[in-house]
Amino acid sequence: MVKLDDLVQFAKTTGYIFQGSELYGGLANTYDYGPLGSKLKRNIKEAWIKKFQKETPYNVLVDTSILLNPEVWVASGHVGGFSDPLTECKNCNQRFRADQLITQHDSQVNADGWSLEKMSSYLAEHKVTCPNCGQSNWLPIKKFNMMFETHQGVVMDSASKIYLRPETAQGIFINFKQIQRTTRNRLPFGVCQVGKSFRNEITPGNFIFRTREFEQMEMEFFCKPGTELEWFKYWKSFCMDWLVNLGMKKDHLRFDDHRLEELSHYSNATTDIQFEFPWGFDELWGIASRTDYDLRAHQNHAAQNLEYLDPQTNEKFLPYVVEPAVGVERLVLAFLLDAYETEALDDGTTRQVLRIHPALAPYKVAVLPLVKKLHKEQAEAIYMMLSKHVDAVFDETQSIGKRYRRQDSIGTYLCVTIDHDTEETETVTVRHRDTMAQDRVKIKDLVSYIEERIQY
Ligand code: ATP
Repeated sequence: MVKLDDLVQFAKTTGYIFQGSELYGGLANTYDYGPLGSKLKRNIKEAWIKKFQKETPYNVLVDTSILLNPEVWVASGHVGGFSDPLTECKNCNQRFRADQLITQHDSQVNADGWSLEKMSSYLAEHKVTCPNCGQSNWLPIKKFNMMFETHQGVVMDSASKIYLRPETAQGIFINFKQIQRTTRNRLPFGVCQVGKSFRNEITPGNFIFRTREFEQMEMEFFCKPGTELEWFKYWKSFCMDWLVNLGMKKDHLRFDDHRLEELSHYSNATTDIQFEFPWGFDELWGIASRTDYDLRAHQNHAAQNLEYLDPQTNEKFLPYVVEPAVGVERLVLAFLLDAYETEALDDGTTRQVLRIHPALAPYKVAVLPLVKKLHKEQAEAIYMMLSKHVDAVFDETQSIGKRYRRQDSIGTYLCVTIDHDTEETETVTVRHRDTMAQDRVKIKDLVSYIEERIQY
C-alpha cells in the first residue's frame, strides 16, 4: 500500500493537488486542484453522470442552490441535530470527535448513534487517552453543529442568518414536486446532483479525505413504498460495479452493512462502501434507504402536499427514497492511491506509473515530436487534430525516454510520437502506458484508434 505522504508529495509535484492558499502560508485543510487534478475530478464526475443519469432511462440531473431558505434545514433536522460529539483534552486543550476517539481506541466499536452519556462513560471507563498528549482527562462531551453559518444581505442580524448546505440532497427533496411535474416521470426514478457541500468538521484531515469544503455526488431514487429494499440492493451493487469497472481493485473495497442498532432512526437499511486507505478501511460511499423521512419532514414543515399520484392505481402516497452519496475528493484520493505504482522493469530499473482508467486519466494522449527541430510542425498539427476529440497534451522537452516516463507517471494513457518516417508513411508510433508496447498507426485512423481504447 502506498504511503499517504508519498502520494501527497506526488500530487503536489505533478500538479494534481496543491495546498490551498500556499502563497499566504496556507489555509489548513484546504486544497486546490491543479492542471491534472481538475481534469481527474471532472472525469470522475462525468463518469458518474454517465452511468447514474445518462445511461438510465429515468434518472435526471439537477443543479440546486448552495444557499437555501434556512427553514429547509430546520425541517431536515440539520439545525437541531447535524452535530458531532465534541470533547476536549483537559491537559492539552486539543479537540476531538468523541466517536472517533472510541473507534481509534477499539476498531471493533462503532459509536455511531450513541448518546453523549454513553460516549462519556466509555471514555472514562476505558481510560481512552488523548492522541496528542497521552493523558486521559476529558471535558464533558458537547454537541457541535457542523453547519457553516453566514449572513445574507447587508444587515448582520439573526433574521439574515443562512447556512452553506452540508449536503446536496435537500435541494433535491424540496424540488421533488417540480421535477416530477416537469419531467412527468413515473416512479421509480432518480434525481442526481453534483455540487459543493460544506461541513465545519471538528477533525478534518488525512489529506483530502475529510475537508470542510468538498463536492458530493448524490442521487435520490424515488420508489414505491415496499420496493425500497429491492432498489437498495440494486443500487448497492450498481455503485460497487461502477468502482470496479473504473479499475478500482476489488480487494481494496468492501461493504460495511450497518447492523440494526447502528441504523439512523429514518433508515431501514444502510451500507458503506469502504476503501482500504493507508490508515485502514474507511468510508468511501454511503448508501441508505431513507424511507419517506425527508419528503414527510418537508411536507409537514412547509405544510404542502408532496404526495405522488400513481396514475395506474390512483393511490396517493409519499415515495420512499434510496440514496447513494459519495464525495468527489474521496474518490480522487481512492483512485490515485489505487493506481499509483512503482513498477520493477526487466532491466533492473523501476518506473513510476499511474495505472488509472483511461476514462479518468487527465490526458488520454501525449503528442511528442521525436526531434523538436525537425518534427515540431507536424506534431503541432496532429495535436490540434486530436485535441478536438480528446484531452491531449503536447510535450517537446527532454529525451523521448524521459518524456515517456513523465507521461507514465501522471497517467497519460497513450503517447503519439512523430518521427522521421511520419511524413512519408503518414503514420506515427503509439506507445501504451500499461504495457509500454508500441504500434504504428496511420494518422487518418488515429482518432478512432484512440477513442476505441478509452471507451468507458
Ligand atoms: P462521516 O461519518 O465520515 O463524517 P457521513 O457518514 O456523515 O461521514 P455522509 O453524510 O453519508 O457522510 O456523506 C456522504 C459522502 O460524502 C461520504 O461517504 C463521503 O464520501 C463524502 N463526505 C462526507 N463528509 C465529507 C468531508 N468532510 N470531506 C470529504 N468528503 C466527505
